[in-house]
Amino acid sequence: MLTPTSSPKKNIAILGSTGSIGVQALEVVEKNPDRFQIEVLSAGTQGQKLIEQALKFKPNAVVIGDESQYNTVNEALWSAGIKVFAGKNALASIVESSEIDLVLNALVGYSGLEPTLRAIDAGKTIALANKETLVVAGELVNRRLQEKNVSMIPVDSEHSAIFQCLVGEYANPIECIYLTASGGPFRGKTKADLGQVTVQQALKHPNWSMGAKITIDSATLMNKGFEVIEAKWLFGLDASQIKVIVHPQSIIHSIVQFNDGSMKAQMGLPDMKLPIQYALAYPDRIPSDFPRFNFMNYPNLSFEAPDMETFPCLGLAFEAMKREGTAACRLNAANEVAVEAFLKEKIRFLDIPLLLAHCLEDGPHRITPDYQDYVDTDIETRRMAWSWTENVKSKTIYTS
Ligand code: NDP
Ligand code: MG
Repeated sequence: MLTPTSSPKKNIAILGSTGSIGVQALEVVEKNPDRFQIEVLSAGTQGQKLIEQALKFKPNAVVIGDESQYNTVNEALWSAGIKVFAGKNALASIVESSEIDLVLNALVGYSGLEPTLRAIDAGKTIALANKETLVVAGELVNRRLQEKNVSMIPVDSEHSAIFQCLVGEYANPIECIYLTASGGPFRGKTKADLGQVTVQQALKHPNWSMGAKITIDSATLMNKGFEVIEAKWLFGLDASQIKVIVHPQSIIHSIVQFNDGSMKAQMGLPDMKLPIQYALAYPDRIPSDFPRFNFMNYPNLSFEAPDMETFPCLGLAFEAMKREGTAACRLNAANEVAVEAFLKEKIRFLDIPLLLAHCLEDGPHRITPDYQDYVDTDIETRRMAWSWTENVKSKTIYTS
């Protein structure tokens, strides 16, 4: 019989503790005080929420990204003995603290890359929610992980599913994996239907409650495209081994098919707390009171092919993988601009893939990039993308 590992308490840094993943991670920590101790918390702009979290979880230090809020946060926390730091550089260096065992990177977008690299260099185990880290610089990140012999545990539900299916299968070749996709709020719609979609409609995900950026990415299927790239780097796969299948109920979180044809799937109700808890507690499984799946509530699980014509962002991810180098970095930078511009109603929903295709095609390409190449590509592509959004009306894209 297997006996549970009696692991010592893990000291955890949560980068992005005020976001959707960060808050759910703190719920997991709160339920398991004998397992986890919060060492560091960080926020971007939500200083007040960070203060409340810090007073409750008593970390050693916090970082507020927005430097103008340093005094407010410091005044609220100094008497509790909590150190306060501010700004981008502080966020990147705090992960090196010797007290930290595991860094949960729950930042959104490109901002997650540097802290991930610094945490790897400092030898910290990474629980990765910030998929953009691997989209932007997967090759560099993998190289550093190997050099430093550091583990990266996925938090993204599909990748957690694949990771869980692979436990005990390390020597067995993978034939392919199936990443499942809900299809997002616009599944079944045509391009004509999507011409006039509003920000509010795009922000309504059918199965998951998440931050604004990933919710828009789910509506365009860019999120699934990013997850394909994420899977390539996490599991050492070729693009041809990664399939996407639309599964609207989001019960099967993903599937591995081995070279004997056998398929393993990981299932459960859609609740991010499960993959978060798995990543924090790995290699142990710890009890939870999360709601359990009832087969009678789901008499039919269905599957369909993704509509790559109506949602070209998924195809753009495969194109970026084919081009290698900084192509996926360009795609990510263009997408961050496109999502922000869409949320600000500067461009329309159908402009998003057009902007991405433009930056993928014409943006700066570097074939064997180092870290600085990624930084430069990100900056140059953003400039190019913003300039595109400024001129979008004059490009006769608006036909209505
Ligand atoms: P949110 O937008 O909800 O949270 C992002 C967090 O990062 C917030 O704490 C925010 O701070 C902080 N932050 C944002 N930008 C910066 C910055 N420039 N500097 C410092 N801190 C910053 O995102 P999610 O939690 O939804 O997603 C986080 C990551 O996890 C993303 O990469 C996403 O793709 C991935 N993911 C999310 C899932 C989900 O269910 N939400 C599921 C699977 C993956 P503040 O709010 O204080 O400004
Ligand atoms: Mg996912």
